[in-house]
Amino acid sequence: MDAMKHVRVLIIGSGPAGYTAAVYAARAGLAPVLFSGAHIGGQLVQSAEIENFPGFAKISGVDLMEKMMHQAEALGTNVIMESILRIEGSAPPFVCCGEKTQMTADSVIIATGAVAKWLNVKGEAEFKGRGVSACATCDGFFFRGQNVAVIGGGNTAVADALFLTNHAKSVTLIHRKSYLRAEQIMQDRLFSHPKVNIVWDSTVEELCGENKKLTHMRLRNVKDNAISQVDVDGVFVAIGHEPQSKIFQEKIKINEAGYIETFEGTTRTSMPGIFAAGDVMDPRYRQAVVAASRGCMAAIDAQEFLQ
Ligand code: NAP
Repeated sequence: MDAMKHVRVLIIGSGPAGYTAAVYAARAGLAPVLFSGAHIGGQLVQSAEIENFPGFAKISGVDLMEKMMHQAEALGTNVIMESILRIEGSAPPFVCCGEKTQMTADSVIIATGAVAKWLNVKGEAEFKGRGVSACATCDGFFFRGQNVAVIGGGNTAVADALFLTNHAKSVTLIHRKSYLRAEQIMQDRLFSHPKVNIVWDSTVEELCGENKKLTHMRLRNVKDNAISQVDVDGVFVAIGHEPQSKIFQEKIKINEAGYIETFEGTTRTSMPGIFAAGDVMDPRYRQAVVAASRGCMAAIDAQEFLQ
């Protein structure tokens, strides 16, 4: 059997945290290997337009992530389009097992990000891909001239609702409270848009349809329990994300919400030699620019550890 390839730094994840870690590790001469995972480019590839990443007044998520990948590769990162399934060992070198590839690593940077949460209501699973989606930028186009709804009250929900006005006839935002937590500038744009209606204080009770196609939903008003019906062709769930930390839970400390714990002000985890950066360890900011900066920190922390 061939000897397993050995690397100094192995990075898991291909969002802004992973690629930034790769850029820094490569420039430090550590010849990193980056396993991209199934969602190449991470959550940002679902953003049609980004205008808060410094240096880019307006750029699509796909373009930004391609630029990051090319930069990391040009500096000497080996990008492998596979997911890591598990890490073995309780001290370096760790054995990192991918879908096809296995290698040992003196240090590991986990930058696996987070994935969309679902409502878990009746009808959701049945109509997923038949009217129910968690990605407006991926699926919004299919609802041209139709009536759609967005569930949630954060930045994602508002950004999705605004994006959907480009395609849909009407967009109804449904939120369980009577105020949004999205940034004020986004709220102003939403409230002044002629295609947008808002249903406050309401949760989705059931997603319903006929002939395997979504037709309407039943809402419950949380104040008086009244049930109402809204006819829709599409529903976009935008209620936040879940950190992708499950495969590491027996190796490193993870909090109750599933976020990897790091020592304050660093990216060090409970296991020396394993570092975490980006949305998988950040319940608070969850911004691309913050993830990128934590990727940088992780590469510097790993470099110090290796020295
Ligand atoms: P979020 O800020 O966590 O908001 C989730 C929203 O979904 C909240 O309004 C929450 O309601 C609602 N919600 C959660 N569980 C629900 C359930 N089971 N049923 C109904 N509603 C539910 O998540 P996000 O909007 O995805 O944003 C995540 C992070 O990315 C944030 O830090 C955000 O600022 C950032 N982001 C930024 C931009 C940008 O352009 N700057 C764009 C997108 C995202 P409550 O309010 O009642 O808790």
